[in-house]
Amino acid sequence: MGAVSKKYDVIVVGGGHNGLVAAGYLARAGLQVLVLERRSVVGGAAVSEQPFGPDFTVTSLSYVVSLLPPQMVRDLRLAEHGYHVYPQGPYFAPRRDGDYLRLPEDPAARHEAIAKFSKSDADAYEKWDSWLAGLGKLVGPLLDSVPPKLGSKRARDLLDQATLLTSLRKVDVRAAFDLTRLFSASIADLVEERFESDAMRGVLSVSGVIGTWAGPRSAGTAFVTLHHHVDQTGGQAAAWGFPRGGMGGVTQAMAKAARAFGAEIRANAAVARIDVRGGATTGVTLDDGTHLSAGTVITTAHPKISFLELINRTELPDDFVADIEGWQTRSGTVKVNFAVDRLPAFASHPEFDPQIYGGTIVLAESLDDVETAYQEAVTGQPATLPFADICIPSVFDPTLAPPGKHVVSMFTQWVPHTFADAPHEAELQAYADRLTARMEAVAPGFTDSVIGRQVIGPHTMQTEYGLVGGNIFHGELTPGQMFHCRPAAGYADLRTPIRGLYQAGSATHGGGGVTGIPGRNVVRQVLRDRRRLGRG
Ligand SMILES: Cc1cc2nc3c(=O)[nH]c(=O)nc-3n(C[C@H](O)[C@H](O)[C@H](O)COP(=O)(O)OP(=O)(O)OC[C@H]3O[C@@H](n4cnc5c(N)ncnc54)[C@H](O)[C@@H]3O)c2cc1C
Repeated sequence: MGAVSKKYDVIVVGGGHNGLVAAGYLARAGLQVLVLERRSVVGGAAVSEQPFGPDFTVTSLSYVVSLLPPQMVRDLRLAEHGYHVYPQGPYFAPRRDGDYLRLPEDPAARHEAIAKFSKSDADAYEKWDSWLAGLGKLVGPLLDSVPPKLGSKRARDLLDQATLLTSLRKVDVRAAFDLTRLFSASIADLVEERFESDAMRGVLSVSGVIGTWAGPRSAGTAFVTLHHHVDQTGGQAAAWGFPRGGMGGVTQAMAKAARAFGAEIRANAAVARIDVRGGATTGVTLDDGTHLSAGTVITTAHPKISFLELINRTELPDDFVADIEGWQTRSGTVKVNFAVDRLPAFASHPEFDPQIYGGTIVLAESLDDVETAYQEAVTGQPATLPFADICIPSVFDPTLAPPGKHVVSMFTQWVPHTFADAPHEAELQAYADRLTARMEAVAPGFTDSVIGRQVIGPHTMQTEYGLVGGNIFHGELTPGQMFHCRPAAGYADLRTPIRGLYQAGSATHGGGGVTGIPGRNVVRQVLRDRRRLGRG
């Protein structure tokens, strides 16, 4: 038996961004909150680390922020705690034949840039962008909401279902049709219908497969594109940006904010068990045996960790356990971070342009290349020609690298998702060599400039960062795992079958990216339940 210590109102399992957001809001509401993080640093998948020594800071996994609601930034006073976002520049897609595609902000310049490849693509892009932005605005309020219990006939649940329908009143006949298509189509279906050039098809297909165990020709990938266009800004177009200090800059600001409101945060504190007595939680037990008591526990760990490892399955209904066991959590993503002794120089555009170096550099020359990379992984082979979404945040953030040197972040796909089961170190290094060669082909001299390379594959994501199966969002963003299905029937409202136990990781609705929405919405549920029980 370990020692029994102080009683908290709420214990949060996991110090990723959702856990920190929840802690901030709870402490702001006056509750005694404790966050427990297994790793030595908080941040989860939104973390900055120094694998190459103290001179270089890399944004280890996630790298761009967009979906964090501006109201949350204000509520938690994140700017006072160092949160700052540099706007992301436009896409630049260099090609091995010496050409490049750019998508500048300015509509006339963009039209001209696309027209180099196809005049009809240039015309189509303006419609595509505003069509997606319009649909993103319509579904924006849905991302923000707690899904109602669809199918339940209880009066309160029927009221929630009616409220959902009311929130969709702006969806007209055209939008209902388009959204239905988006939920079921592949990104290839949409892109190939509208664009003819390989260059445009390649770049646009990437947003449908980011973090997804599905290629651009797989059904449902159109929906992933929409997820990336959801508007959280309340009217302005969803804008992406690079946070100062990498994504760890976001979570460090969240941790400071939570502490400033009075929350306690402990790192190196792995929860071994969520304690349950008589169908209600009583707190948690750490792996050193310490029991920490609280009437409310919020878990933000992956659902397969929370419900299949930290809780005795006999405490949970069989159908709930079956839903969590069946939860799909693959992606085959590999994150490769580099330290380089100079900026890459692109053969197609050798002169320095802040729009290029401050934007996203995409290595994807055609939709077929992207599909082939996926199909290879499906048959058990790491991709011969991985696609990459690249950023060089040290160009505008001098805190990340010494003067003249840089960090290069490459988000890439695919290796087989089964790589989550074992390190596959040699294959990952060979994959990273091919990626380096792919960059060398468009930026000669890149290979020589590399002074450090970190390769994070699905196994490291699973064992080190708790991303089970290597999925970057705690669970695939397929239509069947969204909204009221995220992550189990009847529990998309952030509650669980255990009284006093809530969930708020990325596998809950609003999650899938650094949105903080589950972390904020779970607090609403906790406070509502406390008021109902007369504890608020
Ligand atoms: C390679 C990669 C790239 C990505 N790129 C982007 C991007 O650019 N933009 C974007 O918006 N999103 C991106 N994402 C997704 C995004 O980072 C995640 O969806 C999000 O960070 C998850 O936050 P979370 O708080 O829900 O969970 P996590 O960040 O996973 O936090 C959960 C925490 O729980 C801890 N934990 C687990 N078990 C225990 C235990 N037993 N006891 C105590 N603590 C425990 C874990 O260590 C972890 O810190 C990316 C993800 C990856 C992997």
